[in-house]
Amino acid sequence: MSWKLTKSELDQENLLINESLLSLGNGYLGVRGNFEEGYPETYKSIRGTYINAFHDETEITYGEKLHAFPETQQKLVNIIDAQGIDIYIDGERFSLFEGEVIDYTRNLHFDRGFSERIVHWRSPKGKEIKLHFKRLISFITRELFAIDVKVVPVSLVENIKIVSTVDGDVSNYVDKNDPRVASGHAKRLNVIEAKHEENISVVKNRTFATELEVSCAAASKIEAAEYQYVAEASNTAVTETYVCQGGSPIRFTKYNVYTDTLRHGEQVVEKAMAIQTQVSKQSFEDLLLSQEEYLTNFWRTSDVKIEGDEQLQEGIRFNLFQLLQSVGKDPVSNIAAKGLSGEGYEGHYFWDTEIYMFPVFLMTNPDIAKNLLLHRYSILDSARVRALEMGHRKGALFPWRTITGGESSAFFPAGTAQYHISADVAYSYIQYYLVTKDEAFLKDYMAEVLFETARLWIDTGHMKKGQFRIDNVTGPDEYTCIVNNNYYTNVMAKHNLLWAVKVYQMLKGTDILNLLAEKIALTENEADEWREAGENMFLPYDESLKINAQDDSFLHKDRWDLENTPKEKFPLLLNYHPLTLYRYQVCKQADTVLAHFLLEDETDFETIKNSYDYYEPLTTHDSSLSYCVFSIMASKLGYKQKGYHYFYETARLDLDNTHGNTKDGLHMANMGGTWLAIVFGFAGLRVKESGLSLAPYLPEQWNSLEFNLQYQNRILNIHLEKDMVSYVLAEGEELTISHHDEKVLIARGNKVTIQIK
Ligand code: BGC
Repeated sequence: MSWKLTKSELDQENLLINESLLSLGNGYLGVRGNFEEGYPETYKSIRGTYINAFHDETEITYGEKLHAFPETQQKLVNIIDAQGIDIYIDGERFSLFEGEVIDYTRNLHFDRGFSERIVHWRSPKGKEIKLHFKRLISFITRELFAIDVKVVPVSLVENIKIVSTVDGDVSNYVDKNDPRVASGHAKRLNVIEAKHEENISVVKNRTFATELEVSCAAASKIEAAEYQYVAEASNTAVTETYVCQGGSPIRFTKYNVYTDTLRHGEQVVEKAMAIQTQVSKQSFEDLLLSQEEYLTNFWRTSDVKIEGDEQLQEGIRFNLFQLLQSVGKDPVSNIAAKGLSGEGYEGHYFWDTEIYMFPVFLMTNPDIAKNLLLHRYSILDSARVRALEMGHRKGALFPWRTITGGESSAFFPAGTAQYHISADVAYSYIQYYLVTKDEAFLKDYMAEVLFETARLWIDTGHMKKGQFRIDNVTGPDEYTCIVNNNYYTNVMAKHNLLWAVKVYQMLKGTDILNLLAEKIALTENEADEWREAGENMFLPYDESLKINAQDDSFLHKDRWDLENTPKEKFPLLLNYHPLTLYRYQVCKQADTVLAHFLLEDETDFETIKNSYDYYEPLTTHDSSLSYCVFSIMASKLGYKQKGYHYFYETARLDLDNTHGNTKDGLHMANMGGTWLAIVFGFAGLRVKESGLSLAPYLPEQWNSLEFNLQYQNRILNIHLEKDMVSYVLAEGEELTISHHDEKVLIARGNKVTIQIK
């Protein structure tokens, strides 16, 4: 495959070029983005052949428009709304905003997998009822969203009417004033079909741009002494009306089944109907039992028990439950930055997954973790195309923001330029291997991902005076963009490169490597290049401060005066132009400090400590991804009060809406961060080639802490009290861990108790 593209040739053709240029095979493809929101970018060919992800070749003629990357404007879309259940009591519509709410309770059952609202209500005309709503999204039949409502009249009531809708006329939420929320067109779906057939209400929608379809098939059951029922479909919705006479209690259960093209293929309605037939055989109680069973299993390995602080206990369980609800459990989904709880960040997947959420699943539910890796593998082809688009000769550049593989960043300095995501993905594969020793996975997926990401670094960086340097990238800190030699990026790239070499050596001489080498045209020479670059990676270090510099220029800038910045000016990103922020030493989030957590052996303790002390006062924590890292590192450095303080900020961030924007969705990375701060912070866990190591202590505010870890087919229980820790191997073969620097052998069933110094 040859790489040819000159700007002058493109200019000759009089094309406007944006960030994206692509040239493959014998042809050239000039790219002109059509950034009208809601539509795909269109690509205009100059001449030649467009090769899609190395596989499909499409001949296109000069001037022809091609939807080359229809996913480039990817967004999570709000889908068909089947929540609608209106209740009328003798003609008066139940609403919390009218009449009198005598009593109201709302519960989310983390252990049983449903939410409920119990309301005692008096209507404006004085009719009294008790309502009990239960809602669940099934963990077993993932297409199912079920609602159960009990209506019990307290005063004399003559009739109760239920109006249940399935509405396809839906929009996305937009906010032009907040870059963290979408600002384009709200409408993204057309309604294609709305009908009531075989007692099932069906609506089918299609997205404007990618023409993906989604359908909802809703079936209802009613328990009432006597009732009449009518269903009507409009162009966009189906409404079922039930009129129940006599004023006795009624129960209404609605089973909504959702299917979509990505998961179910073309026949979305037929698939939804078929699943509906199966699920509605089960009673709501059956569904609740299955939820509970699933969750019992989840909590068995995932629960964290804190004695001494109920608020925090609730916070950590809430966060874990939300992580479980949000994580993709099929190969086409990952975890969005806001989970499935809100439309902030447009449903995009970021590095948040690999660095903040993946480790939680890795150490508690490795199967879910594996699925996240498989999702990244499924977009490896797109990452290869992205690398070419960005002018690289080979390699894979994972998109900073994506859903199905296309780069969806709107602002490239704090988006596309965050190349570190490719090393973050590689890091998560390596961690998975260390925790599971899954050799088959290494051969089938990990090797290819590591080799392709290693190639990216070779093509992005360059050797100069014996050092490998990486210029013009953005590290995790989004208040410092497009810099040379960001410490985080370089050290993570180094890890990526050297592990690629290691895996290459492990596979040398095997058929697997031969096949892979053929597939991606890999030569031994490349592995040598990876080693050279990795071993000679330039890692900025400041002699006078004895810290790792965040990048080549950071320490030369003026310091932002955080102390005298008024409170209402935070987060800075909403109040200052990015260029202003880039000119100062000010950090949105942990950057070098995070690198010191992920790869602590790359530098000495003194440098880690000095760096923490230096960067902490410069960090605003305007990103919710910051606190947990500072908590973990404060624990490592023995700053116990700080470790606790930063942890506290993470644990109830969304429950108490401390960032003021939970309305846009939960801060999923922070939720993972709560767990990380406990397990990697207070318990000091690290997973390395040498095995598991722990350096635990208990925050003085607590009486005890207990959690489990999954490690190479074992379950290790860790119980911390004031002055001691006990390790119990609940499942699996004996294990040697490091407790601080001491080797500890834990046999099956044995409890090893150690005094904490
Ligand atoms: C952070 C990024 C993060 C993104 C999504 C931004 O505010 O700076 O690091 O990936 O939010 O959570």
